[in-house]
Amino acid sequence: MDQLQTSIEYVKGVGPNRAKLLKEELNILTYRDLLTFFPFRYIDRSKFYKISEIPKNNIEIQIIGQIIDIKIIDQRKGKRMVAILKDFSGEIDLVWFKGYKWIKQSLIKYKNYVIFGKINWFKGRASIPHPEIQTEEDFKKKIGNKLHPIYPSTEKLTNSGFTQRTIKNIVFELLKINSSKIKENLPKNLINKLKLISNSEAIKQIHFPENNSILAKAQFRLKFEELFILQMKMLIKNIERKEKIKGFKFQKIGKSFNSFYKEHLPFSLTSSQKKVMKEIRQDLSKGIQMNRLLQGDVGSGKTIIAVLSSLIAIDNDFQSTIVAPTEILAQQHYNSFKSLLIKTSINCYLLTGSSTKKERIEIKNNLKNGTLNILIGTHAVLESNVEFKNLGLAIIDEQHRFGVAQRSKLWLKNNLPPHILVMTATPIPRTLAMSIYGDLDISIINELPPGRIPVKTFHRYENKRLQVFKFIKNQIDKNEQVYIVYPLIEESSKLDYKDLMDGYESISRYFSKPKYQISIVHGKMNAEEKKIEMDRFVKNQTQIMVATTVIEVGVDVPNASLILIESAERFGLSQLHQLRGRVGRGKKQSYCILMSSNKLSENGKVRLKTMVDTNNGFNIAEVDLNLRGPGDLLGTQQSGIIKLKISDLVKDSELILLARNEAIKILKNDPSLSSKENLVLNRTISKLELDKSFWNLVS
Ligand code: ADP
Ligand code: MG
Repeated sequence: MDQLQTSIEYVKGVGPNRAKLLKEELNILTYRDLLTFFPFRYIDRSKFYKISEIPKNNIEIQIIGQIIDIKIIDQRKGKRMVAILKDFSGEIDLVWFKGYKWIKQSLIKYKNYVIFGKINWFKGRASIPHPEIQTEEDFKKKIGNKLHPIYPSTEKLTNSGFTQRTIKNIVFELLKINSSKIKENLPKNLINKLKLISNSEAIKQIHFPENNSILAKAQFRLKFEELFILQMKMLIKNIERKEKIKGFKFQKIGKSFNSFYKEHLPFSLTSSQKKVMKEIRQDLSKGIQMNRLLQGDVGSGKTIIAVLSSLIAIDNDFQSTIVAPTEILAQQHYNSFKSLLIKTSINCYLLTGSSTKKERIEIKNNLKNGTLNILIGTHAVLESNVEFKNLGLAIIDEQHRFGVAQRSKLWLKNNLPPHILVMTATPIPRTLAMSIYGDLDISIINELPPGRIPVKTFHRYENKRLQVFKFIKNQIDKNEQVYIVYPLIEESSKLDYKDLMDGYESISRYFSKPKYQISIVHGKMNAEEKKIEMDRFVKNQTQIMVATTVIEVGVDVPNASLILIESAERFGLSQLHQLRGRVGRGKKQSYCILMSSNKLSENGKVRLKTMVDTNNGFNIAEVDLNLRGPGDLLGTQQSGIIKLKISDLVKDSELILLARNEAIKILKNDPSLSSKENLVLNRTISKLELDKSFWNLVS
């Protein structure tokens, strides 16, 4: 075991109690953990103020001077100690209210001290309460006039006397003795090529940088290393998966696919769609399990990809399944599949929570005897009593609502795992996808079908409601349809429900029967009721669909050309973008109106402005990511996968690309990392996980 694996308990100034605290609060167990516990900001301690030039505000300053007098002063509650510090330009008071007995003993008059702390001005006289104080000698021997680190901490640590000073001193002690034991963990070629500073130098400088330029070098080196190793691991996992996880070989492109493609495809594919189909066909034919993520903006045409991929499975005598996150979506997919495949002999079935017993029995039988070709449904499809004859392909729509655990449930349904295609309309920047879904292959549809007219988006305040309603009337009079959407944070939220119903009422008054017909869909309705209301809208029997966010994903009614989003400031960006995607599907100019109150947070303003400014899902995702951070955007499930110590998956996207490219180059030449040059890397990667688990087991 290497020495940096020693328990933190044995560092000077730690001991068993503090070690316990460090473990509990910061998950720091070993020397290495502490050395790679990085500061999040620095205080410049290279600058000294003259006492006469101390600014008249409450900033932190550093001065150097001698103590000329020490007094204990009685005050109403207890006592305080005041030491007068003098330099050649003036005097200042250093004040202690607590623990001064011990400090008093250690202070020596007429000796040079370095003082650091926040100034306090009272009646024209400056003082520093509870300053950080060291003799000049000690200061120089220790960290000295460099940048001093500030570490992340917790309330419990601070309350237990574990101040920034304590942590800083412990790290200093640790580094003093152990810096020579910090080994290089990247190959020499790479270090030379990218002009990286060494690992040990980087670690030293990240804690106690001599200046800003060397700090930047240390940060670059450590961030690169972190991202590089992350990418390396992802790529290795991907290579291993492809070596180990066998899959069905769909070699044939047969009658089902070909005749559909030639005779029934209602449009020609966009070049993005063609490219994606090529990637999928290649994956399916290799005898290795496909694990592909398909990213495509709302309306970019992912459904046809799902249909065509299913046809390939069918041509090879396999079944396929499409899993959607909601019943409405499953229903919509089912409708699309049915209408696209209407002239073929392919059997599609729909299975959801509200399927009847009779339907279930029929599905069960046909699944088993193989007459069922495509099963479309909700999570119900994943239940263990749903047994396929031979499931070859599983397509999962709208990834962000679907966990990894559920994905793997599909595996249990077969001796070989089915091919998996995950489709998402919540595009995330490519560099982020690389880091989160790095073990998946990624396909992107980056264009919309031709002839689409971009949706025009406006932001309107409440007081313009009447004008907005007039505009809606206008659209309906042109025989077009309209969505009106209300926020619903939780399905059970009473207030939201009231808003929706109040809104519905005033809409019904303005758009009165019999000229206008209105559908309404919300979370308190059962699936059957929702379906009836949806159907009326789909068939153009109603002109307005009033709904909560249940229509957020996937619903396809090309004749709907306007969406009014109420209290738009309450929606997240990706939600707004999804909602807007409900319109602009037909040949006519479509509109999205974002209605908000006058009270908008800064964040809310940015969201609405972004929506007005751009229609591009990838741009929107990027803004969203900056507003919310990756954790929030992806949900805890996925963000938990990655705990980065120093890099930022959003801000460091260029570095991610660099790291990824370097990792690809190395693995291309030496996939098993067995060359002499790469041995160090091999060790770094295999060691990382072992380290942590070792101490967690021991203690
Ligand atoms: P999404 O990616 O949001 O699931 P859909 O698959 O629902 O998008 O497609 C949106 C609309 O675009 C549908 O009405 C579909 O028929 C149509 N569409 C898809 N691909 C094309 C294409 N290549 N040319 C013309 N229209 C297309
Ligand atoms: Mg879709």
